[in-house]
Amino acid sequence: MASSTHRVSVLGAGISGLAVASLLRLRGHTVTVFERFAAPRPLGSGLVLHRSGLTAMAALGLDAEAVRLGCRLTRFEGRTVAGKRVYALEHDPGDFSLGIHRHTVFHLLYTKALELGVSIVAGCEVDAVEHGRTAATVTAGSRPLGAFDVVIDASGAQSPIRDRYAAIRSRHAFAYGALWGVCEAANDQPLDVLRQRFHGAKVGIGLIPIGRLPDGGETRHIGFHWSVRNADIDLWRRAPIGVWKREVESLWPETRFLTAQIARHEDLTWAAYADVALHRLHAGRIVFIGDAAHAISPRLGQGANLGLVDALTLADTLSTAPDVFAALETYNARRRDQVRYYHAASRWLSALFQSDHRIAPVLRDLAFAPVSRIPYMRRQMLDSLAGEKAGLFRNLDTSKLVRN
Ligand SMILES: Cc1cc2nc3c(=O)[nH]c(=O)nc-3n(C[C@H](O)[C@H](O)[C@H](O)COP(=O)(O)OP(=O)(O)OC[C@H]3O[C@@H](n4cnc5c(N)ncnc54)[C@H](O)[C@@H]3O)c2cc1C
Repeated sequence: MASSTHRVSVLGAGISGLAVASLLRLRGHTVTVFERFAAPRPLGSGLVLHRSGLTAMAALGLDAEAVRLGCRLTRFEGRTVAGKRVYALEHDPGDFSLGIHRHTVFHLLYTKALELGVSIVAGCEVDAVEHGRTAATVTAGSRPLGAFDVVIDASGAQSPIRDRYAAIRSRHAFAYGALWGVCEAANDQPLDVLRQRFHGAKVGIGLIPIGRLPDGGETRHIGFHWSVRNADIDLWRRAPIGVWKREVESLWPETRFLTAQIARHEDLTWAAYADVALHRLHAGRIVFIGDAAHAISPRLGQGANLGLVDALTLADTLSTAPDVFAALETYNARRRDQVRYYHAASRWLSALFQSDHRIAPVLRDLAFAPVSRIPYMRRQMLDSLAGEKAGLFRNLDTSKLVRN
């Protein structure tokens, strides 16, 4: 139960911001979300939610609907384009990760926030937070938007608030990003396995079953990604799309169902990635969650999951600690180790799977498959995938999680 309730502002109506807003409303706090877009909307294609992220969805009563609309992924499989196995991971019986359309996650979280009485103010690009003696004032273009006990920065990997106020430990831009898209699944597509194909570390193609849209009938979707060197993106845009489609099809002929649905460059979205790590996840009355707190490469598919667990942890600490500052200290202490673990793991995997390294992918192709068959290593990989490494579930209640 809350020791006291707070006036909270949340910057950004993304996955982390909407989740923390609703979790705080459920605990009796007054919450205002400021979003820069004129109408809040999701960006990107698909996501994989693991046990950690699904636990936060369960705390909002959204896991059953998410599981109904998404695809239960029981296997993860990567091969070279020649067909040699690079990795294969299978969940324990009854367990799964959830491939889900971004629009679906956004729709569930946005509807829940409105239902709970979260105030969402769109068209506000917050650029400063001024600290007073008893409160912090949020401003956009020097226009004050209100005074709050705590300001939660959930404004994503490019957060201007983080860049201005946080103590940044390291910042690194990756040379590779990806082109992402969504297409309709063909009838013969397996919907329970995430599949990838690699050629060295420069070519990576992925197919992720992500299920249905909330109002999209029975049509199932597949999220698609293709690694691209950021420096080459203009070359890709200038060449006819057919050139790229033929390359993808020649490397992985099974993708023809998908390339047939891509007519223009604009059917794909380019995303570049950065890794930004903080010394502390708070500064004064500002606290950082989601990508604003820990931008990482999506190689391990953990960003949204980490953001959801941040949201759950922060909602708990703000509702139980004696004051805002104690709550933010406790939040930082509870999240620090896990955030560091996933920063390190995603950097390491990016070098192996998406880089200009020549030797690393050769070693990967030789060692990954046999190593993942050793029971101890398999367990470590599955726990990393589930978002459970570094003591996460010490602080989470997993009992309400949908399983079968
Ligand atoms: C291609 C790709 C694939 C991915 N796949 C996965 C996956 O499979 N699993 C996974 O867990 N994660 C994945 N991720 C990571 C995941 O998408 C992010 O970690 C997650 O979306 C972060 O959510 P967020 O709410 O913290 O930030 P965002 O989703 O970036 O939301 C930030 C919000 O803040 C708003 N905003 C920005 N600046 C301001 C401002 N100044 N004032 C007000 N509002 C502002 C933005 O408009 C936006 O609505 C992937 C990422 C990418 C790029």
